[in-house]
Amino acid sequence: MAEFSMELNEDQQQLQKWVHDFSENVIRPAASEWDEREETPWPVIEEAAKVGIYSFDFVAQAFFDPAGILMPIVNEELAWGDAGITLSLLGTTLGLAGIAANGTPEQMLEWGPQCFGTPDKIQLAAFAVSEPDAGSDVSSLRTRAVYDEATDEWVLNGTKTWITNGGIADIHVVVASVEPELKSRGQASFVVPPGTKGLSQGQKFKKMGIRASHTAEVVLDDVRVPGRCLLGGKEKLDEKIARAREGKKSTSQAAMRTFEASRPSVGAQAVGIARAAYEYALDYAKERSAFGRKIIENQGIAFKLADMKTRVDASRLLVWRAGWMGANGKEFTAGEGSMSKLYAGETAVWVTEEAIQIMGGYGYIREHPVERWHRDSKIYTIFEGTSEIQRLIIARAISGLHIV
Ligand SMILES: Cc1cc2nc3c(=O)[nH]c(=O)nc-3n(C[C@H](O)[C@H](O)[C@H](O)COP(=O)(O)OP(=O)(O)OC[C@H]3O[C@@H](n4cnc5c(N)ncnc54)[C@H](O)[C@@H]3O)c2cc1C
Repeated sequence: MAEFSMELNEDQQQLQKWVHDFSENVIRPAASEWDEREETPWPVIEEAAKVGIYSFDFVAQAFFDPAGILMPIVNEELAWGDAGITLSLLGTTLGLAGIAANGTPEQMLEWGPQCFGTPDKIQLAAFAVSEPDAGSDVSSLRTRAVYDEATDEWVLNGTKTWITNGGIADIHVVVASVEPELKSRGQASFVVPPGTKGLSQGQKFKKMGIRASHTAEVVLDDVRVPGRCLLGGKEKLDEKIARAREGKKSTSQAAMRTFEASRPSVGAQAVGIARAAYEYALDYAKERSAFGRKIIENQGIAFKLADMKTRVDASRLLVWRAGWMGANGKEFTAGEGSMSKLYAGETAVWVTEEAIQIMGGYGYIREHPVERWHRDSKIYTIFEGTSEIQRLIIARAISGLHIV
C-alpha cells in the first residue's frame, strides 16, 4: 500500500529553505530597485547563477522531480521575494519547458544547458507563442515556418509579442505555423540558436507590474535555422500533419503541451506573492492600533486574514496536486492544471488587495511592498492563459462538450 503524506520530506524541506534564504537575502532586498528601474536585474541573476539556482542542472532536477512539487516549491519561494525578479530568473524555464514538451532527449541535452549558460557567461531563453492577433487564440498564429529542402533549413517569418526575455534571450523557442489551414495541428516549435541572423527585438513594453521582467516583441525576418532545430524532428511533424489531414485525433498541440507543464509553476508564483502579502498584513494588523486596540482584534480585519490564509493554502494544495499529477502521468480529466493556475492567480489578486485594505493608507504607498505585490499579482490572471481560458478548459474537461 503506497504511503500518503502531506509532509515534505527532509530533502524537499532543505531545498525549500535554501531557495527561501536566497529569496529573503538577495531577491526581496533588490525588489523595489528593479521595479523602479524596469530593467532585467542582471546582478541578481549573476548571484543566482553563482549559488546554483540559475542553472540547467538545478532546474532540470526540480523539473523532473518524480513527486512533481519541487518546481512549485522553487517558484513559490522565489516569488515570495519578488515576482518580477522571479520571472527574470525563471522566464528561461518557459523556453526549457517548450524544449522538454516537444523535443527529443537529444535536443534537450543539446539546447537545455545553453538556455542557462554558465556563471561566467549567463544565457537566457524565451518561449515565443503570442502574436498581436493571436493571444488566447493560439490556433491563429501567423508566424510561418517554411522548409527549404535544398539546404535542410527552416525559414521563419512573423512577429511575436509580449515575450518574456524576448530579443535579449540567447535561445528563443518559437511556435510557428507550418500548415496554416490545419490551425494548431499544423504548428511546430523551433529552437532559434544564439546569434541567428534575422531575429531582433521590437518594442519593449512598459508594464503595470513584474517590471523587473523584460517583455518585448520579437521580430523574425527570414530567420534560417538548421533542420535539427525543429523540436521533435521532421518525421514526427510529417506524421502529425498527415494524421491531421486525414482528420484523425491529435495527441496534443505544441504550445498547449508546454502550457500544461508550466501552469502549476506559474500558479505557484501567484501563491508566493499571495503568501508574502498575507504574512505582511498579518504582522501589520498585530502591530497597528486604532480606537485603543490592535486592528486585528476587530473581526472585520481578523476574518479577512482568516480568509486570506485559507485561500493561500487552498491554492498551494491545488498547485501541488497538479504538479504531482503531471509528474506521475495522470490525465488532467477536470483541467486540474488550469484549476491550479486559475485559483492561485485570482487568489493573489484578491489577497494583495485585501492586504492593502488592512494597511489603509500605508498599504497604498511605495514605502511598503504591498502595492507592488498587487500590481505584480494581476498578470497571473492574464498570461499563460487568462482566467477565462482556464475556465473554458475546466468547463470542457468536466462537461465533455465544446463549450465556447
Ligand atoms: C507581461 C506579459 C508577459 C508575457 N509573456 C509571454 C511569453 O513569454 N510568451 C508568450 O508567448 N506570451 C506571453 N504573454 C502573452 C499572454 O500569454 C497573452 O497576453 C494572453 O494569453 C492573452 O492574450 P491576449 O492578450 O491576446 O488577449 P485576448 O486573447 O485578446 O483576450 C482578451 C480578453 O478576451 C477574453 N477571451 C478571449 N477568448 C475568450 C473565450 N473564448 N471565452 C471567454 N473569454 C475569452 C480573454 O480572457 C481576455 O479577457 C505575456 C503577456 C504579458 C502581458
